[in-house]
Amino acid sequence: MSIDNTNEFTIKIKFFGVQKKALMQELIDEFLPPEKYVLLEEDDPDEDCLKINEAGSTDRDEVKREIFRKLSALTGKRPDWGILTGVRPVKLAGELLHEYKDPQQVRSIFLKDYFLTEEKADLITNMYAYQQESMGEPDPDSIGIYIGIPFCPTRCLYCSFASNQVPDGEIARYLPTLLKEIRFVGEKMKEQGIHPESVYVGGGTPTTLSAEQMDQMLTTVEECWDLSKLKEFSVEAGRPDTITMDKLKVLKKHNVGRISINPQSMKQETLDIIGRSHTPDEIREAFKMASSVGFPVVNADLIAGLPEEQPEDFARTLSEVLKLGANNITVHTLAVKRASRLKGIDQDYHYKVADIVRRMLDHSKEVLEAEGFRPYYLYRQKHMAGYFENTGWSMPGTEGLYNTRIMDEHQSILALGAGGISKRYYPAMDKLVRVANVTNYQQYIDRIEEMCKRKADGFFTSDDIDEKNIRNLG
Ligand code: SF4
Repeated sequence: MSIDNTNEFTIKIKFFGVQKKALMQELIDEFLPPEKYVLLEEDDPDEDCLKINEAGSTDRDEVKREIFRKLSALTGKRPDWGILTGVRPVKLAGELLHEYKDPQQVRSIFLKDYFLTEEKADLITNMYAYQQESMGEPDPDSIGIYIGIPFCPTRCLYCSFASNQVPDGEIARYLPTLLKEIRFVGEKMKEQGIHPESVYVGGGTPTTLSAEQMDQMLTTVEECWDLSKLKEFSVEAGRPDTITMDKLKVLKKHNVGRISINPQSMKQETLDIIGRSHTPDEIREAFKMASSVGFPVVNADLIAGLPEEQPEDFARTLSEVLKLGANNITVHTLAVKRASRLKGIDQDYHYKVADIVRRMLDHSKEVLEAEGFRPYYLYRQKHMAGYFENTGWSMPGTEGLYNTRIMDEHQSILALGAGGISKRYYPAMDKLVRVANVTNYQQYIDRIEEMCKRKADGFFTSDDIDEKNIRNLG
């Protein structure tokens, strides 16, 4: 079987004895858009198909390697991340390093068993070592805390988050409920001797809160939580059109040390296409205000692969953001997620821009390394353009602790607010248990007592819980 006309084909694929086909499909999707292939049932008499696992292996990686080899031969593609389809490659690097102790051996496993390119194998093994060196292991009594503000001025084309566009009155209605949850977890943390190592206020756009509302929320945090061992306090300012001098001063007053101003692009046409209601000048102004207030760390989120952008547009954005003084730059690869408007417009968009995105990412690496930045954390998502990755770059000493810990999955994360998903880590079993708040903010307001109970029962449990009982949580 071969592909003779790349626009007019459908591949038939038949698995033999394979459980969890959805996991295998994630890998197939890296080679072929979903409408270009069909999965046949095992007993389908059609023999003109690509047969996978005729030998009946129960080793999932072995099956993935077969898919990779066969689809590479068929399509000519060789995805950089090989057979790795999960979101946390650096975590895997850490696990292999613990097992084999030898970075060279781990590198060789990534090349031979996972089919990563040399560049990606080096990237994640070096990144894990850097994380260990710069952040070390978390204190067992520490947790990371996320506070979600699920509101934004408009909805971005690619957004799949809990982001509501509502009148100010709704935000005012949300805040007291959130304060209730802040107080509740404060009591629980005190009872259990747990303290936050990092606090991350994200969203949505937290700066949709007014300066007074932000002050009220951060005052409640200070009153109710033991912040004496806090190492990082981040607030995502996000949309430049929501940032004011008053709000930045409130953040500063409450010792927020890391803020994020997220241009995504400095090109007006792009901002219009993706539905952001701000201008490049407002981005410039937000950076100037942040610099005058004085935050030790200012992050900027950029996206490679935005509609109608060429590598030159991305290069201009990166260059300008560097000039504006960002010392953390997170380079995202555009993902076409199920809940986004973009998915409805062009579900294959991420396949079409793969080559452009590669050039953008290569450029960002070259420029950021030359400027002294280091890649300190990385994650992948489904349906990313070119199936590449999102990378957090930082000037040494400014790495985002919360971001790193959440990907490493060796610390509990307590998440407050609508859509917050807490993850309780049980070290003895090396397991995470998810405890979710409802996503709908009105339901969150109506059902706050239930959300608190869920946390009491599913998060604030004893470390000694056994395997049997862990299944009943979350
Ligand atoms: S700023 Fe973020 S959360 Fe808000 S609409 Fe855009 S992508 Fe969604």
